[in-house]
Amino acid sequence: MVEQTLTIIKPDAVQRHLVGKILSHIEEDGFTIVGLKMLTLQKAQAEAFYQVHRERPFFSSLTTFMSSGPVVVALLERENAIERLRELMGATDPKQAAEGTIRRRYGLDVEKNSIHGSDSPETAATEIAFFFNHLERCTP
Ligand code: UDP
Ligand code: MG
Repeated sequence: MVEQTLTIIKPDAVQRHLVGKILSHIEEDGFTIVGLKMLTLQKAQAEAFYQVHRERPFFSSLTTFMSSGPVVVALLERENAIERLRELMGATDPKQAAEGTIRRRYGLDVEKNSIHGSDSPETAATEIAFFFNHLERCTP
């Protein structure tokens, strides 16, 4: 089934000029980019995006990091997009991520791990709506 998912190229990767490499990696796997934008999240916006993690010890540091500089947000489409993007990304901690995954290649540590991907159909729908209105979705 063709699905949509949301990815964020995180501030650590944008700062290190990895946007092109990471988008290439994703496109070469067969994803179509159907929405794309660059923006800097305010702290409160990062907190809203990561609400599900508000009780976690890393919440404050994570949302400070995610609002520390520009991010690139993309709406992606592909067969089995949600699961496939998670595979391409690799485990949250780059040290645990499989060889060849985006986080293993580019991630710096468990927080600055270069990329976000939605983890379920429900999350994908919420996260896509967080960043893209209908006019910004380049789908037929
Ligand atoms: N994170 C962190 N410390 C941790 C776990 C997660 O800083 O111990 C950060 C990391 O940037 C991660 C994000 O919080 O990508 C969201 O965590 P989640 O468990 O949802 O991991 P993901 O779905 O991104 O693999
Ligand atoms: Mg997650």
